[in-house]
Amino acid sequence: MIKAYKIKLNPNNKQRTQLEHSAGVARWAYNWALEQKKKHYEETGKTISQGDLRKHLTKLKQTDDYQWLFQFSNNITKQAIKDSDEAFKRFFKGQAKYPRFKSKRKSKWSFYNDNHKVKLSDTHIRLEKIGWVRFAETGFLSNEFRPLAYRISRYGLHWYVSITVERPDSSDYSTPVNEPIGIDLGIKTLATVSHGKIYTNINKKNQVRKIEKRLRRLQRQVSRKYEMNKEERRYRKTCNIIKIENEMTRLRTRLNHIRTDYIHKMTSEIVRTKPSHIVIEDLNVRGMMKNKHLSDHVSKCHFYEIRKQLTYKTEQLGISLVVADRWYPSSKTCCECGVIDKTLKLSDRKMKCKCGSRIDRDLNASINLSRLAV
Ligand SMILES: [Zn+2]
Repeated sequence: MIKAYKIKLNPNNKQRTQLEHSAGVARWAYNWALEQKKKHYEETGKTISQGDLRKHLTKLKQTDDYQWLFQFSNNITKQAIKDSDEAFKRFFKGQAKYPRFKSKRKSKWSFYNDNHKVKLSDTHIRLEKIGWVRFAETGFLSNEFRPLAYRISRYGLHWYVSITVERPDSSDYSTPVNEPIGIDLGIKTLATVSHGKIYTNINKKNQVRKIEKRLRRLQRQVSRKYEMNKEERRYRKTCNIIKIENEMTRLRTRLNHIRTDYIHKMTSEIVRTKPSHIVIEDLNVRGMMKNKHLSDHVSKCHFYEIRKQLTYKTEQLGISLVVADRWYPSSKTCCECGVIDKTLKLSDRKMKCKCGSRIDRDLNASINLSRLAV
C-alpha cells in the first residue's frame, strides 16, 4: 500500500534560505523546460522529450552563466522537467489547461529530492547539498516503511517534507460489505450522507468566522499602510507591513489546517462504515467558481480536497468510489417513487412529491446517489 506522510521541518536560517533557493531552482527549471518545449514545437512541429531536455541542460551547466546550478541537487531540475512534461501530457489528453509559467508569488514553493540521496534519522532528514534538517515532529516513521519519493514544500511560513512510502498491507481490512452510501455535497450543508448523517459547513462556525474577521481587518490595515507609504506612485514595503503580512499568512495557514482537518475527519468517518461503494456527484467546481456570488464559498469548501481524500481512502479499504454524471437529476428525483420533479428550484429546501413523500432536499439527493450503481 502506498501512503504519504507530511512532516514539518525546523530548518535553521541558513537552511531556510537554501530551501527557498532550491524551490526557486525548481521553478526556474520548470519554466525553462516549458519555454524550450514551446520553442521547439513552434520551430519543428514536434515535441521534445524529457531526456533531450535534460541533456540540453547538462550542456548549459558547463557554460559560465549556469555554473550556479551545481550548487543544487541534480534531482531538483530533473523532476521539474518531468513535471513540465506531465503538464503537457495532461493538456494533450484534455485533462488540463495549457501549462502556464510558474510565478514566484502565486505558485507553490516546492522541489524534489532523490530517494537514494536522502538519509533519515529519528530526528533529522539529510537533504542533498543542504544537509541534516531537523524534524519539528518525530515518531511518525518506522523502519518497516520503504520510502519511494521525497517532496519538500512550503505552506504558509513553514517547510514540510512529504514522504511517499510503501507500507505492508494490513490484514485487518476485511472486504467492505455494508450498504452503499451516497453523499450530496453542497455549500449550505457541506455533506449529507444517505444514512442520515449531516456534516455542517465548517466555515459557518465561530472559530473560523473569528479568524476570517481578523484577516479582513489586517487586510484593511495593510492596504492603508501601503497607501500611506506610497512614494511617486510606487508602493513600498515597510517593517510593519511585513509584520502584518506574516501574521496574515499565519492565519491563512491556520484556516487551511482547520478546513482540511475537518474534511479528513469527515471522509475517514464515512469510509470507516465500510460501505460496498460510495457515490458522489461530479460537481462542476470550475463552473461554480465562475459565478461571482458562489466562488468564494466554493473555494472555502475544498470540494476537490474532499474528492481527493475520498479517492485514496476508499482505495486503501477496497471500497469503490462512483462518480455520478453531472447531469444525473439526484435532487429532482423522488427517492420514494422515482418521479422526476422538474419544477424543483434551488431555493426549495424540501422535496415534496405528488406521491406524498416529503423529505429534506439534500438527503433525498444522497439517497438517490446511493442507489445509482445498484
Ligand atoms: Zn414520489
